[in-house]
Amino acid sequence: MRTYDVAIIGGGIIGCSIAFELSSHGFRVIVVDRQEPALEASWAAAGMLSPAPDSPRDAPLVPFARESLRLYPQFVQAIEEKSGKSTAYTRHGALEVFLSAGAERRCADRLRELSQVGIPAEPLLCDAARKLEPAIGASTGAALRIPGEATVEPRVLMDALAAAVRNSGAEIRSNCAATGIIRDGQRCAGVLAGGETISAGHVVLAAGCFSGQITNEPWLARIAPVRPVRGQMLALRPAADGRLRQVVRSDSGYLVPRSDGRIVAGSTLEEAGFEKRVTAAGLRKILDASLETCPALASAEVVETWSGLRPGTPDDLPVLGSTSAIGLEGLWIAAGHYRNGILLAAATAKLFREWITGAEPSFDARRFSPARFALPKAGAKSAD
Ligand SMILES: Cc1cc2nc3c(=O)[nH]c(=O)nc-3n(C[C@H](O)[C@H](O)[C@H](O)COP(=O)(O)OP(=O)(O)OC[C@H]3O[C@@H](n4cnc5c(N)ncnc54)[C@H](O)[C@@H]3O)c2cc1C
Repeated sequence: MRTYDVAIIGGGIIGCSIAFELSSHGFRVIVVDRQEPALEASWAAAGMLSPAPDSPRDAPLVPFARESLRLYPQFVQAIEEKSGKSTAYTRHGALEVFLSAGAERRCADRLRELSQVGIPAEPLLCDAARKLEPAIGASTGAALRIPGEATVEPRVLMDALAAAVRNSGAEIRSNCAATGIIRDGQRCAGVLAGGETISAGHVVLAAGCFSGQITNEPWLARIAPVRPVRGQMLALRPAADGRLRQVVRSDSGYLVPRSDGRIVAGSTLEEAGFEKRVTAAGLRKILDASLETCPALASAEVVETWSGLRPGTPDDLPVLGSTSAIGLEGLWIAAGHYRNGILLAAATAKLFREWITGAEPSFDARRFSPARFALPKAGAKSAD
C-alpha cells in the first residue's frame, strides 16, 4: 500500500488545481476520480473569469473572486510551463448590455453595484458599444464595459492542467471511485477508493456536486451540503457579421467567444437533480437571449449542445476548509464553487497549499468554512 501526503477526491478543476499547487511544492499527491478527470462541471463551463456578482447574494464572494482573477496570469503560466500546452487564457474584458425598457436606469444601478464591490467598469454610448462589438443589436439601450475580465477555454485548460499535475509528479487515478473516508480515531487517515485503501496524511474532498454523497454517512452530507444545479449550453458557429471579440452579457444570458471563432452561449439554472438532459425549453431560452442580444447570430450554425451540474450550496458560497469543527482532523472540503469554480480555482489552490503546509493564510476565508453548516450556532469553532 502506497502512502501519500495528500489524497484528493475528484479530478475536476478544483481537485486538479490543488494537486498541482501541492505537488509543485514537493508533496506526494494522488487524485482519484470515478471516471476520467474533468468530465463534469469543469468540462461544461463557459470559462468566464468574472468576479462581477450575479446577484446581491454573491457580494461576500467578490473579494475572493477578485483575488483569484489577480492570481490567474501566474496560475495559467505555471500550468503552461509545466504541461507545454496552452490554456487559452485571454483578457479582452466583457460588455454588459441592457435591452428594452429602463435600460439606462438598470445600467446606472449596475455601475453603482460594481463600484461598491471595487470592480472597475465604464458606461458606453450605444454607438461606441456597437463599434466595439458590431454584432450587438440596435435594441441595445445602454451598455457598460468591464475591462479587467478574462476567459479560458475550460476543456483546453483542463487538458493542460491534468498534464501539469502528472508532470509535477502527482498521480491521477481514473475509474477509481472514492467510497469511504478512513478514520484513525479523530484523524482522517486516508480514503477507500477503487476497492483499495489509500493512506494519506491529508484528504481533500473536491468532488463537485457529488461531494456530499461519496459515502452514505449523514455527517458528510451535513458538512458538505452540495447539490447539482443544471446549466445547459450551446455552441454557435457564426457568419463573419456575428463574430465577437469579448464576452457579451445581458440580464438573460451570455455569449463567450472561443479562439476558433465559435461562440458559447448560456445558460439555464435548473434544479433537476443529477439529470443532465438538454431540453427544448432550455435551448429555446438560451437562443432567445442570444438572438435578442446579437440578432446577427440568427444565421449561425448550432454546432454543439450540452449541460453540466454546478456544485451549488445553501448560501451560494463555496465550502472551503477543514472538518476539525466536527472533531475530524486531516479531512478538508473544497467544494460548492457553484457558478465560479473556473475563476476560483487559482485562489482555492493557493489557500489549500497554505492551510495544508501550516503557512499563514494570505486570504481570510473563514466565511466559507464548513463549520457554518456543521455548527450553525454562535460560538462555532473556526475550521481553519
Ligand atoms: C453550464 C455551466 C457554465 C459554467 N460557467 C462557468 C464560468 O463561466 N466561469 C466559472 O468560473 N465557472 C463556471 N461554471 C462553474 C464551474 O464549472 C464549477 O464551479 C467548477 O467546474 C466546479 O469544479 P469542481 O472541480 O468542484 O467539480 P467538477 O468539475 O464537477 O469535478 C468533480 C469531479 O469529482 C469526480 N467525482 C465525483 N464523485 C466521485 C467519487 N465518489 N470518487 C472520485 N471522484 C468523484 C467527478 O467525476 C468529477 O471529475 C459553470 C458551470 C456550468 C455547469
